[in-house]
Amino acid sequence: MPPLEKNFIITIDGPSGAGKSTVSKKIAARLNLIYIDTGAMYRCVAWAAREAGLEMSCTSEMITLLQGIEIRFQTAAGNLVFCNGKEVTDLIRSPEIDRLSSAVSGLPCVRAALLPLQRAAARNQPAIIDGRDAGTVIFPQADLKIYLDADLDTRARRRLAEQQLQAGVDLESVTAAIANRDRADSSRSQAPLRRADDAVLIDSTSQDIESVCQHIIELYEKLKK
Ligand code: C5P
Repeated sequence: MPPLEKNFIITIDGPSGAGKSTVSKKIAARLNLIYIDTGAMYRCVAWAAREAGLEMSCTSEMITLLQGIEIRFQTAAGNLVFCNGKEVTDLIRSPEIDRLSSAVSGLPCVRAALLPLQRAAARNQPAIIDGRDAGTVIFPQADLKIYLDADLDTRARRRLAEQQLQAGVDLESVTAAIANRDRADSSRSQAPLRRADDAVLIDSTSQDIESVCQHIIELYEKLKK
């Protein structure tokens, strides 16, 4: 694959469990892009706020926390996530942080604090950005926008497979939690989840990860012609 020019941006938006992060990591490795997981940034805020005993609202304590938050990704060694110096890769994937990250993501102070960090992460580097508003708000001028979707049952089964080692997790509770997050993500006033007008819709319900990646790489190759 020829190297991408600087600042080439691919965005991948869509609801929880559609396969965005798996697809993004594979494409990042194949096309030599940096991978920016914007959901992990909201998860870090939720984790840090809970650690500090804060309520999930735009209080002065939350604003102070946001001003000092440091979020770092270490891609080479297995996509590790660090928040305020601590490795939180697994800690931010619990059902509790699923719920709290969805709550903080609706707060204007949190979105305003993370937007410049998300844009800065891709400065001068070709990147793939995975999120809910990557193609609509973070990078409206992205070179290639994908909206990756799948039906609710398929997404819940995938999320269950990821979380199955945790106690108290079953298909019913995962389906309800994802449906709630879908509703919250799509109906909030701040950067709601929606397909950008110029995003390509890919439904992964009956497609495996490999064919989704192949489809995106074909779109990329057409753009390069
Ligand atoms: O993608 P992930 O499930 O890790 O995202 C965690 C939460 O962060 C989501 O429920 C969503 O509410 C929020 N989010 C967001 N905007 C993004 C990425 C994630 O609101 N760009």
